[in-house]
Amino acid sequence: MPDRYAVIGHPVTHSQSPWIHAQFARTTGQDIEYLRLEAPLDGFERTLDAFRAAGGKGANVTLPFKEAASRYCSELSARARAARAVNTLKFAGASRYGDNTDGAGLLRDLTVNLGRALTAQRVLLLGAGGAARGVLAPLLEAGPQRLVIANRTLPKAQALASEFAPARDGTRLQALGFEALGGESFDIVINATSAGLSGAALAIPVSVFRRGALAYDMVYGRETPFLALARASGAAAHDGLGMLVEQAAESFRLWRGVRPETATVLAALRAR
Ligand code: NAP
Repeated sequence: MPDRYAVIGHPVTHSQSPWIHAQFARTTGQDIEYLRLEAPLDGFERTLDAFRAAGGKGANVTLPFKEAASRYCSELSARARAARAVNTLKFAGASRYGDNTDGAGLLRDLTVNLGRALTAQRVLLLGAGGAARGVLAPLLEAGPQRLVIANRTLPKAQALASEFAPARDGTRLQALGFEALGGESFDIVINATSAGLSGAALAIPVSVFRRGALAYDMVYGRETPFLALARASGAAAHDGLGMLVEQAAESFRLWRGVRPETATVLAALRAR
């Protein structure tokens, strides 16, 4: 029987992960099965326990269970600890290992697929929820000159900035409210809010995009108001589909010991 993996969330009906991992398995010659597991909101642990008991070897975790997944683990990677959230689980006997590949996925999409190094760049990170927290440590490791975290609810951005300040290693890290963003422009603007899912516009000025800026919305598969604003300013605008594929490739590598090629999978996914 092939090794069995799954994506667990609520809902998971529209998850692209089964399709992405099927492509990875095909191109690397790995024999795996990858399922969708929809857990009831109060039944995350129960659902995973049953999956493990039936021989499940690992899982991707999606909303709203990423924080619950970190509590489920017997061991966490350093990046999962920093994120306080787990998107990848690996099971072996009684061991439940948790990792977070979202930040690595974003960095790889930015630096490899989009060809934008972060070193010495001025970076604006919009949002202070789980996705922002998950990418902060790898963003800081990439060595930007300045990193501003801006959030609708300012105290959440301030809490993140003070928590990650000791790891900043030379980056000027600061938290701001959206209304304080008028006076500065940035080379890279990353939208880690969920505003685009409901079509909501962010109350940010168009002046945040420097000439030649790259704008990145973690939301994918739709033209969000953020991407439209960025395009109108002349910025290069990208959605989060590449991050989705790259974080999946990192999970696949953790499970199978081989990193799949991603460019053709990303192109095929975009064409679907
Ligand atoms: P979350 O923890 O619920 O946080 C939501 C964030 O969005 C908060 O900062 C919230 O601000 C902000 N927000 C929501 N609606 C807003 C609005 N109308 N105006 C301004 N700010 C608004 O969610 P999350 O886990 O961080 O996920 C954020 C997004 O990232 C989701 O859309 C998710 O799909 C996406 N994501 C994509 C990938 C990928 O692979 N591409 C991976 C991970 C996540 P307040 O604090 O003020 O409420």
